[in-house]
Amino acid sequence: MQQVVIVGSGPAGYTAAVYAARAGLAPVVIAGAVTAGGSLMTTTEVENFPGFTNGVQGPELMEAMRAQAERFGARILYDDATRLELASDVKTIETGSGETFRSRSVILTTGSAYRKLGLAEEERLSGHGLSWCATCDGFFFREKEIAVVGGGDSAMEEALFLTRFASKVTIVHRRDEFRASKIMAERVLADPKIEVAWNSEVAELVGESAVEALRLRDTVTGDESILPVSGVFVAIGHDPRSELLAGQVDLDDEGYVLVDHPTTATNLPGVFAAGDLVDRRYRQAITASGTGCAAALDAQHFLAGLSVDETETELLEASA
Ligand code: NAP
Repeated sequence: MQQVVIVGSGPAGYTAAVYAARAGLAPVVIAGAVTAGGSLMTTTEVENFPGFTNGVQGPELMEAMRAQAERFGARILYDDATRLELASDVKTIETGSGETFRSRSVILTTGSAYRKLGLAEEERLSGHGLSWCATCDGFFFREKEIAVVGGGDSAMEEALFLTRFASKVTIVHRRDEFRASKIMAERVLADPKIEVAWNSEVAELVGESAVEALRLRDTVTGDESILPVSGVFVAIGHDPRSELLAGQVDLDDEGYVLVDHPTTATNLPGVFAAGDLVDRRYRQAITASGTGCAAALDAQHFLAGLSVDETETELLEASA
């Protein structure tokens, strides 16, 4: 029987683990089989996480958080949670490798997943010129013309990073102004290797075995055009990874977990949620860390509120 199981890693999960471990709760972190560390593992420099005057590489930051949590006794498991049973007092968490954990409290920090374009040819061309990760795949597009779809900070970051390899980067954005922060947008607009296709959406990924071009549609006039590219990087935001929670934890209409603000408590006693799984507004590494901290404190208070009698009864029931 665990005191706290944290499902998901990333800044929220690892910060929750640091706090829970320091509180002596010996948390188990189900960190993900391939996605451990979350989306910062596939980013480059993080310039706005406080405390790093000259910035820090995303993977380096996450490795430091993981090591810090382990230093205080957190157990990190590189495995996926595949089934959760959260409604009863004793929570059950099953993993992909067949382990089953029982825990008095659970902190959900499964973050978000890359949003897809929703095109029929997306699956076929994924990994064949279509990518969601510039740092993973940018290298394959040396001296090639490529496109980045999106108008937020991620798209700016991907485009700037890809100029290291590509001969030309075209940002395809559906409106006539970026959503991205001013500093990132200015860097993009000043880069001679980057062009912007404003008011444009991808109507089709052209190519049989690999991406050869994009068929673009003007979002104002409806006119269509062909943009020849051998690679396209999609950076159109994220959706919460809450598919395991449906029917148990209350979600909003887009799948974000609903919590009792300003706490991280979900509708289920002993179940807390933090990070991008909850946050549709700020979605920064530092805000995820902040809510991860809050979730660990909330779990700690919840566990402290259980009387000894209740604890013993639960243990007996769980082992029955
Ligand atoms: P985001 O801010 O939600 O931006 C998503 C972009 O994709 C928007 O421009 C949006 O267009 C566009 N989009 C959404 N759905 C689309 C669709 N179906 N087809 C075409 N375009 C679509 O997401 P993000 O850029 O991934 O950033 C997420 C959060 O992380 C933000 O808070 C951001 O500030 C943060 N972040 C920060 C940094 C940094 O500071 N260095 C780096 C990366 C991310 P509209 O604008 O028309 O809605």
